[in-house]
Amino acid sequence: MALDGKTAIVTGGASGIGYAIAERFLRHGVKVVIADVDGEKGAQALSDLEKLGDARFVKADVSKRLDVHNMLAETIDAFGDVDILVNNAGIVHASDFLDLSEEDFSRVLDINLKGSFLAGQAVARFMVEKVQNGGAPGTIINMSSINAVLAIPEQIAYSVSKGGVNQLTRVMALALAPYGIRVNAIGPGSIMTEMLAKVNSDQAARNRMLSRTPLGRAGEPGEIASVATFLADDDASYVTGQTIYADGGRLPLNYTVE
Ligand code: NAD
Repeated sequence: MALDGKTAIVTGGASGIGYAIAERFLRHGVKVVIADVDGEKGAQALSDLEKLGDARFVKADVSKRLDVHNMLAETIDAFGDVDILVNNAGIVHASDFLDLSEEDFSRVLDINLKGSFLAGQAVARFMVEKVQNGGAPGTIINMSSINAVLAIPEQIAYSVSKGGVNQLTRVMALALAPYGIRVNAIGPGSIMTEMLAKVNSDQAARNRMLSRTPLGRAGEPGEIASVATFLADDDASYVTGQTIYADGGRLPLNYTVE
């Protein structure tokens, strides 16, 4: 794989899908910075990831511009480069539309959507300069969700934020195509992480999820890491502006088991 020796930043890399992506990248010889708002989880994740290769942890809240700039500066300091950015950090907030507060709406949008813009823009500026100086173009992957296109009654802000992530992916892909920088998104279905445990807290919700998933099970974080590895690699050299759904068939097959 052409990934060997590259450098990646994975936001929200202290747990769940981000951790699985960091782990997979390290196994392919990528140097990885995990950035996460949770210092304790980040330190724990780093002590495991360091066993696999060259890893660093930076404490950063992706919704804060200064944190994002510091995350990039620390990556350049440590590895001298960034070839891959995975904008994975995200949160959910359960509320129906009529009860959703302005603060909660903003918080979800700030982390899931503005955070991807801030990190995407900062890293893209670095990548563009590198291309202008004769370097190789990098690639950016945004973490979307099936909720980008499915309306879920109790996940208003989350669905809006992920719809925005799909469009952010398209406009970034267009803006960065002249430099050869590819930008894609991954739209996971239900993946076994702490976030899913929060969303599917009761058995009825779990059963509903399973009844709508043709493969009949939740996905594993490693199954999203596989898609990220493909998109980050030169194997995907003609793929840009896409959201690739890895959802056990839920969106394309639109199916419910009675
Ligand atoms: P998770 O809760 O296990 O991990 C999210 C990580 O992001 C945590 O380590 C958390 O500390 C970090 N984080 C939260 N706010 C942050 C901030 N402001 N700055 C930096 N880091 C922050 O969740 P997950 O299931 O691994 O989700 C990862 C991504 O995948 C999210 O964008 C989520 O929306 C998306 N996703 C998950 C599922 C699923 O079923 N698990 C489905 C679709 C999409």
